[in-house]
Amino acid sequence: MKDERAVRETMIATCRKMNAAGLNQGTSGNLSVRVDGGFLLTPTGMDYEALVPEDMVLMRMDGSHEGPRRPSSEWQLHRDILEARPEVGAVLHAHSMFSTTLACLRRGIPAFHYMVCAAGGVDVRCAPYATFGTAELARNVLDALEGRKACLMANHGMLALGRDLPSAFKLAVEVETLAAMYWRALQVGEPVLLDDAEMARVLEKFKTYGQQSAPVLTPSGA
Ligand SMILES: [Zn+2]
Repeated sequence: MKDERAVRETMIATCRKMNAAGLNQGTSGNLSVRVDGGFLLTPTGMDYEALVPEDMVLMRMDGSHEGPRRPSSEWQLHRDILEARPEVGAVLHAHSMFSTTLACLRRGIPAFHYMVCAAGGVDVRCAPYATFGTAELARNVLDALEGRKACLMANHGMLALGRDLPSAFKLAVEVETLAAMYWRALQVGEPVLLDDAEMARVLEKFKTYGQQSAPVLTPSGA
């Protein structure tokens, strides 16, 4: 198991990277990382610049928590995702500008660009609206995440998953970039969408995309 203090420090560094990357609006973003016995979650309503490792809240899967701070109001969303998706090690939620703009139109991101496959499928869905911090919202988001690693949330924001925090952060930046591109394209006309056959080819290529292969021994003289 990873050193829990190092995880807390990485969470704070990621919160600040979210600010620098323009993913956060105020203190609206929150993130969680799976640890032994539950998960660590960012506290509610705190300025990210002021956070110290002890401010991260240790949550158990039954919803109880430890530490001096109150957890993010979206603790149930994080808990339900980590419970339902054992391959997920980190969850990042934000009210980033372009993803949220599309989500307020209740539009997901279709296959207008091949990089949509980075979220695991042919589109990024928009989860139906429910009040923040409710079990209903967690259910809607889990449905929208079926076979995916990211979704938008109607009239609310976006969410990205990863096996660890760096991969969740990277995907959140990618989804926000795609949302910005799609929004811009919509200003000019109706973007041309890639068909399912092409997206299937891209998804296949993505299985090895970005991975450095192990050194291959070439035949002598090659
Ligand atoms: Zn939110």
